[in-house]
Amino acid sequence: MGSPVRIIEHWIDGRRAAGTGERTAPVHDPATGEIQAQVTLASAGDVDAAVRSAVAAFEHWSQASLSRRTGVLFAFRQLVHDHIDELAGIISAEHGKVLADARGEVQRGLEVVEFACGIPQLLKGDYSDQISTDVDAFSFREPLGVVAGITPFNFPVMVPMWMHPVAIACGNTFVLKPSERDPSASLRIAELWAEAGLPDGVFSVLQGDRTAVDALLDHPDVAAVSFVGSTPIARSIFERASRAGKRVQALGGAKNHAVVLPDADLDGAADHLLAAAFGSAGERCMAVSAAVAVGGVAAELAATIRDRARTIVVGPGRDATSDMGPVITAAARDRIVGLITSAEEEGAELVVDGRGLVVPGSENGFFVGPTVLDHVRPSMTVYREEVFGPVLSTLRVADVDEAIRLVNANPYGNGTAIFTSSGEAARRFQRGVQVGMIGINVPVPVPMAYYSFGGWKDSLFGDTHVHGPEGVAFYTRGKVVTARWPRAVASYAFPTSN
Ligand code: NAD
Repeated sequence: MGSPVRIIEHWIDGRRAAGTGERTAPVHDPATGEIQAQVTLASAGDVDAAVRSAVAAFEHWSQASLSRRTGVLFAFRQLVHDHIDELAGIISAEHGKVLADARGEVQRGLEVVEFACGIPQLLKGDYSDQISTDVDAFSFREPLGVVAGITPFNFPVMVPMWMHPVAIACGNTFVLKPSERDPSASLRIAELWAEAGLPDGVFSVLQGDRTAVDALLDHPDVAAVSFVGSTPIARSIFERASRAGKRVQALGGAKNHAVVLPDADLDGAADHLLAAAFGSAGERCMAVSAAVAVGGVAAELAATIRDRARTIVVGPGRDATSDMGPVITAAARDRIVGLITSAEEEGAELVVDGRGLVVPGSENGFFVGPTVLDHVRPSMTVYREEVFGPVLSTLRVADVDEAIRLVNANPYGNGTAIFTSSGEAARRFQRGVQVGMIGINVPVPVPMAYYSFGGWKDSLFGDTHVHGPEGVAFYTRGKVVTARWPRAVASYAFPTSN
């Protein structure tokens, strides 16, 4: 008899819950290829149980004073801070990313918790005195109710944290449906919320797949949906949730360009490009997947990238010597390998080939080595599709205006970066590109928590970006009160109904 299979459960009403347990999915260790646990997949009935608990909790949590809410948030902030290493270990074991990267992810999530700790300031309304004789007007914002978050595999702690600290600080209750590929981190986060004093039902975790998502989108008691994932799913979530009358923000995929001008510090730019392309095995929505060489810079840039890409150490994320871990599944590996092959067949130059990489001791792991392609053209499949793996495509353009046109012709608009020493070129670029987040000599321009995160075009469906001021606006709705308090006139005459 082998050891019993570990089951990863839901978190409903302040405790672990098995749910109906009718269906499960395997959770792999991407570094070995082995199945390490089974995650339970929620049925529509499980979704209803979590939402009902969240509805009941909303009644009290929405009335909790700002001081009470802030107290829980500060306690949660401290607990997450104290458990960074543990959370990083959980992330790395199921996602495969290296521990230093996983720690960075928790740190960036923590910044959103810290932002949400300032909720009393963020929810301050406006007040206009004496808008008419004896009349004042003022505004304030109220929470929406039960809000749902549906999140991708690539940041199992950070992306949910873009949502739940802000939603909960605003007085909502939150139901999280994390990725079924790396579900454990969300359960640990639920325990930390409970330890921080968050009442039962305010934060729930529903493990699951499309069945759970559809039940959340159709549930009449879910007021709003935040989604982060691939573009086709983001588009369909936006359409279905909007049709059901819900407020929705759905962040999608990306194709992020880094433009390198001849006046850039080439050495520094090459290092940044490599880290941005191959960090987390390219499985970041802000990863640089297209290097755009401007003018005469191409040959030298390509040679430097080629030489350094070959030195990247690929291995299990838990090994301190690894720079880059495996990709998430065997299917993802095969898809990425297929895209590299298509690029070669369509005429790109394969400068560094990561296909067929075998990591000694991890022969069955889902590894693809760093891959560099040169002379990529916009018509090639590898450029048109989001690769979401360790593949850097190099394209060549004549000048910064052609680079701007290239970026804008792409359907995605998540992030982009320019490397230059010219303020004039940088400014032309920042004003010209149709992209939500722009880095100037910064390769992965993920905004700080007190700004909002989000792309344009096919990288976001909906009106508001996540966290920062737009996150607060998304999770609340406004009221404006116009109040008349006429002066009471005292009289010695006997009161009458007039
Ligand atoms: P995905 O779209 O496959 O899954 C995202 C979520 O949707 C998961 O919770 C999953 O269970 C659920 N889901 C999957 N298929 C579904 C379906 N048919 N119906 C309903 N729900 C479904 O994405 P992924 O592979 O987990 O993550 C990678 C993608 O996420 C990439 O495209 C990446 O660019 C994107 N991403 C975007 C951002 C951003 O900020 N724009 C951030 C992180 C990741």
